Amino acid sequence: MNEHDLVVIGGGPGGYVAAIRAAQLGLNVACVEKETALGGTCLRIGCIPSKAMLETSEHFWRAREEFGREGIRLAGVELDLPTMLRRKEQIVNTLTRGVDLLFKKNKVTRYLGHGRIEAAGQVTVIAEKETLSLGAKHILVATGSKPAVLPGIQMDGDRIGTSTEALAYAEVPKHLVVIGGGYIGVELGSVWRRLGAKVTILEYLERILFGMDAELAAEAKKVLEKQGLEFRLGARVTAARVEGDHCVVECEGKEPLRCDRVLVAVGRAPNTEKLGLESLPLELHKKGFIPVNEKFATSVEGIYAIGDVITGPMLAHKAEEEGIAFAEQLATGHGQVNYDAIAGVVYTQPEIASVGQSEEQLREAGKEYLKGVCPFRANARARTIGQVEGMVKILADARTDRILGVHILGAHAGDLINEAVAAISFGASSEDLARTCHVHPTLGEALREAALAVAGRTINL
Ligand code: FAD
Ligand code: AMP
Repeated sequence: MNEHDLVVIGGGPGGYVAAIRAAQLGLNVACVEKETALGGTCLRIGCIPSKAMLETSEHFWRAREEFGREGIRLAGVELDLPTMLRRKEQIVNTLTRGVDLLFKKNKVTRYLGHGRIEAAGQVTVIAEKETLSLGAKHILVATGSKPAVLPGIQMDGDRIGTSTEALAYAEVPKHLVVIGGGYIGVELGSVWRRLGAKVTILEYLERILFGMDAELAAEAKKVLEKQGLEFRLGARVTAARVEGDHCVVECEGKEPLRCDRVLVAVGRAPNTEKLGLESLPLELHKKGFIPVNEKFATSVEGIYAIGDVITGPMLAHKAEEEGIAFAEQLATGHGQVNYDAIAGVVYTQPEIASVGQSEEQLREAGKEYLKGVCPFRANARARTIGQVEGMVKILADARTDRILGVHILGAHAGDLINEAVAAISFGASSEDLARTCHVHPTLGEALREAALAVAGRTINL
């Protein structure tokens, strides 16, 4: 039996980062991953392929719809979907192979197969041709998540499928119906809209992007509608099926919709199937998450969990952060995650990025706050790049001026938000941000201007 200090089950951003950090800190580490490629949902079928598709589809859209306004006349702009899909695959392959190299560099042993916990201290790797037993002083479950399903939806893995299928449609749908107005539905809906599909997003709630600041989400909806996305709110889908060469989607109290493709994007569920948990004294949360304490320890000694399989935002950087904190805890007794400083980004055009508390959360908590806003139309760089939609909104404690939340709708919001993450991590006040000299002309100046607006002393507004 091969013996390790730590066996990580799952090679996604949570698992592979934890494995590397623990190895760097001197532990003998192995990672069991059932897919041939490392990198998990994020690298194979999540963040990376979706961002590759968003980027190329945006280029196509801009070439057709926007370049003319800048004095660039293009004739015969055509979509070559096979090349676009191949480019996406190449990016995925390069990055997943990169994780193999990182494992070699950091001396992490990699096992290919399905990991199963037999008991504390013992993991079985079930591969195609053999089964291997591993001894493990510590076991980390980082098995991630899978798309949630809805009763009544007959997924055929082709016309009615999940984000995985929607990242690889071989042709542009004529009419794509997306069930769920969360970030996955809105991002992938945008991709296929830009490539020419009619796209209808059905959302059960009366708003899209639940969890993001409501004012920005409402503004984003208007901008996306201008791009041709159709939203139906308050629409609870009860059934969907393939009928001949089209699909039928049934919505409570509304006429059924006919379309040629359906993307089911109603959230994600933790992955705990066939992990051997049922034979352990461990009770799952009612939604299937593994309960852990602040050191990521489960109720079974020597077994830990991080990432999408535990509660919290289902995001790659949250999983990575937990991977590092877990490894450092295990090896040194120190390590923690600042959950107040985990940002969320929706990579539409414009992007939507948020960190900290939304206005609704502050109001609900009865917290007194000041608000500073800078619309991008007042920002010189936004004018030069021709992307003036959106705004920066900063929320600061009315008494101490400490920044409580930053919300950005605008071009490159996903990059801009990192400054706000750093500010919140260091407990900065809005005045700290307002007194930081920002480079001109940059989109980041809108953050400074919004910080100035908190104290009512803007220069450019
Ligand atoms: P995962 O990445 O899911 O990795 C778990 C791994 O465990 C998988 O490789 C799986 O094969 C393996 N595994 C499971 N069970 C076993 C077993 N028993 N034995 C062996 N191996 C096993 N997040 C962002 O932060 N930004 C984004 O832009 C973003 N975009 C997304 C777009 C899409 C379309 C999707 C679907 C997700 C996106 N996410 C994004 C979410 C992100 O992918 C997840 O939050 C992240 O991958 C979670 O990391 P993880 O390590 O916990 O799990
Ligand atoms: P997220 O969890 O962010 O990926 O978003 C999933 C979205 O799907 C949420 O906004 C849910 O309200 C929505 N949703 C869940 N069930 C249904 C349903 N039956 N019909 C329409 N939308 C749904």
